Amino acid sequence: MRVVKFGGSSVADAERLRAAAAIVAAHQAQARVVVVVSALASVTDTLLRAAGQIQMGEGAWQATLAKVAERHQAIYRALAGRVPDDFARQWAALLAEAATLPPRDPATELAALEAARFSGWGERLSVPLLALALIAAGTLAEGFTEAPVLLANRDPFALAEPSILATRASLVPRLGPLLLRDGVPVLPGYIARDAEGRATTLGRNGSDYSAAIIAAALGAEALYIYSDVPGIYTADPHRFPDATLLPTLTYAEVRAIAATGAKVLHPRTVEPLVRWGIPLHLRSSFAPDAPGTDVLPDPVLATTVAG
Ligand code: ASP
Ligand code: MG
Repeated sequence: MRVVKFGGSSVADAERLRAAAAIVAAHQAQARVVVVVSALASVTDTLLRAAGQIQMGEGAWQATLAKVAERHQAIYRALAGRVPDDFARQWAALLAEAATLPPRDPATELAALEAARFSGWGERLSVPLLALALIAAGTLAEGFTEAPVLLANRDPFALAEPSILATRASLVPRLGPLLLRDGVPVLPGYIARDAEGRATTLGRNGSDYSAAIIAAALGAEALYIYSDVPGIYTADPHRFPDATLLPTLTYAEVRAIAATGAKVLHPRTVEPLVRWGIPLHLRSSFAPDAPGTDVLPDPVLATTVAG
């Protein structure tokens, strides 16, 4: 089984969602697939802005959220010709949650936590869109909007500590029946639940980390992460045109590169992969067949290099 993760720019609009569906179909021809998806590009930022406006008591939040609704509705129309009733239900639940964000000083830690939790709606909204794109392309698929990653944490302000076993115990019975029919589950990145059952997130850009936790929990043979660049370069390719793509790296090298703040991967992504020895393949969803960066368990890399 492979876990295949798409970042926000890989699902930004109907065309990108169709391209993502084609990538999933190509994987599915070779192995069982579980998909993890980010919010559509820029939606997390917009939801955080809306939460801040609500917390400041600014009426502008309504217009901010309306733009998010319109964007998703336009994609539903492009993919399926209509907006499903499920979207209206989701949106009503989102507005109900917005109403629980009381006006308060948005500089407090608690307000930031509540805003982050609210921003998790971005992934809950993108999951059914990608599931729909897959179904429209003829792939059996189903979206599971509940937070897939379970944490051992009880303190909401502590660093997220994923429980691989609890995540596995909750995912296997939920996804098993669909996987046995060769269907593709689509899961939200970024959002998680703590040991008290409270909704939380893995922090900004946490979907890579989600995908790695899910890959470990399900014993995946590999994790594929699709973004708008094929992999890790010797320098930022947007600033240095001479930068070259690094074809293979070890987990330790990736961890070191991510720790420098280079926007390549959430820095904790490699943690579950190292422990479970799961190879990571970085690719561009804009050129899925082009070479990317392969991050291999260190002994495998040593054998490859020696052989
Ligand atoms: N949507 C979340 C963010 O933008 C998580 C992610 O994309 O990885 O931070
Ligand atoms: Mg994002």
